[in-house]
Amino acid sequence: MPTMRDVLKARRIVAAHLPPTPSWSYPLLDEAVGRRLVVKHENAQPTGAFKVRGALNLLATLDEDIVTYSTGNHARAIAYAAREYGRHATIVMPEHAAPLKVRAVEALGAKVVLHGVNMADAEAHAQTLPGRLVSPGDEPALIAGVATLYLELFERHPDLDTLVVPVGSGTGAAAACLVAAAVAPHCRVIGVQSAASPAAHDSWRAGTCVQRGNHTRVDGLATGRGFAGPQEILRARLHDFVLVGDDEIDAARGVLARLAGTQAEGAGAAGLAAVRQRPDLLGATVGVVVTGANATELELAR
Ligand SMILES: *Cc1c(COP(=O)(O)O)cnc(C)c1O
Repeated sequence: MPTMRDVLKARRIVAAHLPPTPSWSYPLLDEAVGRRLVVKHENAQPTGAFKVRGALNLLATLDEDIVTYSTGNHARAIAYAAREYGRHATIVMPEHAAPLKVRAVEALGAKVVLHGVNMADAEAHAQTLPGRLVSPGDEPALIAGVATLYLELFERHPDLDTLVVPVGSGTGAAAACLVAAAVAPHCRVIGVQSAASPAAHDSWRAGTCVQRGNHTRVDGLATGRGFAGPQEILRARLHDFVLVGDDEIDAARGVLARLAGTQAEGAGAAGLAAVRQRPDLLGATVGVVVTGANATELELAR
């Protein structure tokens, strides 16, 4: 488990590569949800998602070739960091991966291997390849890197009393919990996942990692199992965990586009979907992390 010292070290590393992302309030959006929202724009990262912070921090400490597996934003983050450090990265993606996402990874210079029908197949194949295998969920350095997002957010907005974070493997929410506990202990952190892929939610409620069906069309939230490292932090510190439907997530993407002029992929809009669905859980000033922008062409059309 990373400590705040690890997070402060990560900040130095990440800041050498990325400027802070903006965080804004939008009057029409505030009016629509009935309270002040602070929208943190990780969709403004060069890779279109927050995961690049974790990848830059992890790869700073590795000097071997990297192997990993992912359907999208983790792949792009590792490819970006590998390019920054002049490292070679091989990324195993399931055969059905969206062509635009494959091309985005290849354009950063990483090698893509298409294998299997799902993430479990891709993971199994990645384990057979030479190089340092990077798990998308169980790497403390990824959590420490991602935590720099929440340092930025609380430094600019120490008044947040609720923070809503989308959850897949749980690294982002675990990072939010770590930082909130240290610098904003009054702030409640609430996780949100798709009801069609509830593995992290159900693992948190059960107090042990469970496997669940994985039927959401929302990429970043689609994990079929709980990850032990993040779950341990979430169990200790997460205030609540909400499930939202995929249709509600799409509706929230539309609201962000219209009222905040910003593009979110499904996972990036899950926080706002939770805010709209569960106003009873919220305080007066609520942070919502738009974790990513990388909608597929199908999602954009919808
Ligand atoms: C990966 C991802 C998430 C979920 O983050 P975890 O750290 O896996 O819980 C949310 N949104 C986007 C855009 C992502 O890429």
